[in-house]
Amino acid sequence: LSIPSPNALDASRLIVEPTPTPKPVPSDSSTLVFGQTFTDHMLTVRWNVSTGWDAPVIKPYAPLMLDPASTVLHYAPTLFEGMKAYKDKQGRTRLFRPDLNMARMNRGAARMAFPTFDGSELVSLIKELLRIDDRWMPTDPGCSMYIRPTMIGTRASLGVGPSTEVLLFVIMCPVAKYYSSGAKPVSLLASTKDVRAFPGGTGSYKFGLNYAACVAPQMEAAQKGYQQVLWVLGDDHECTEVGMMNLVGGKKREDGSVELFTPPLSDIILPGVTRNSVLALARAHADPSNPFTLEGVPSNLVVSERKVTMPELRDAARDGTLLEVFGTGTAAVVTSVERIGYEGEDVKVPVEGGNGFGPIAGAFYEALQAIQYGDLEFADWSVV
Ligand code: PMP
Repeated sequence: LSIPSPNALDASRLIVEPTPTPKPVPSDSSTLVFGQTFTDHMLTVRWNVSTGWDAPVIKPYAPLMLDPASTVLHYAPTLFEGMKAYKDKQGRTRLFRPDLNMARMNRGAARMAFPTFDGSELVSLIKELLRIDDRWMPTDPGCSMYIRPTMIGTRASLGVGPSTEVLLFVIMCPVAKYYSSGAKPVSLLASTKDVRAFPGGTGSYKFGLNYAACVAPQMEAAQKGYQQVLWVLGDDHECTEVGMMNLVGGKKREDGSVELFTPPLSDIILPGVTRNSVLALARAHADPSNPFTLEGVPSNLVVSERKVTMPELRDAARDGTLLEVFGTGTAAVVTSVERIGYEGEDVKVPVEGGNGFGPIAGAFYEALQAIQYGDLEFADWSVV
């Protein structure tokens, strides 16, 4: 008796059901509000424990039908990714390091007791979705297509247990240039009360549950006049992340060199694709044998992944050694920080690049955008 092994995710089995009623594409991409306009189609792939992955389907964007007992609606088995596609000057569509998004999604799937899959198959399916919805791809400079792969547990049962049925879907939004009226530095409130992630927890995964609990503290920060939360942890007020971005900073060292610092990856840090890219570019810049350079950044740059605390940032701001603090993430690429509310005081962070970024943040922004839009080749990061 042979038991068939469950099907793997297989892009070659794709079924395409084109929409009979294409929607009008917004004529002015600068007016798009992030995450509110969706393209004509979506990708869906069902999985169940006995047969594995069904044939992937690209079909008209539409509401999902879910049993009200679906576990995702009760116990939050849901995870997502965030990635972007960009049009280059030759009119080709490019993804930025999609392999890293797929690896992160699979890491999350394993932790969530979801099925894992071959990431290159999902990238092939995403490329097909981009091809089918190509007329939605904004072409204005700085615009892009935001891509949201998602997995949810759809087993209809109130029993807490493994997801024997899962739905993987991908939706896409055309998005405006993030800094449409120029980059603006943000203010942060260091949250010593509410914690985003903690040792042994799930903060390093893109689980929906991590984000649901961030909204109330974010609203509290806004009421106090700060734009985002700086998530700190523990009695020593260890800095972890900035809103939904990784934290990076620059500091003057005694020997005249500049330290670029960011907290090391651990279970309290989301392994950001942008963070990874910033570190790789910084290391390439600091390597005299590598021709790559970050314009306006000193060449004696020392890159460190290490613990950073709020008292350290406050003291460095006071004694003038703090050069910059910024957040990194797919949505905005780089966001400079100008002040941090901490224990009743405003810690002032220099932002002296002139264009809304400090010089280090600005150099990373320019380099990453050039790579993402295919104007600069770097290590096969941009995938046509
Ligand atoms: N931290 C958190 C909590 C995030 O949600 C994100 C956005 N994915 C990031 C950092 C930045 O990650 P990435 O550079 O991959 O967008």
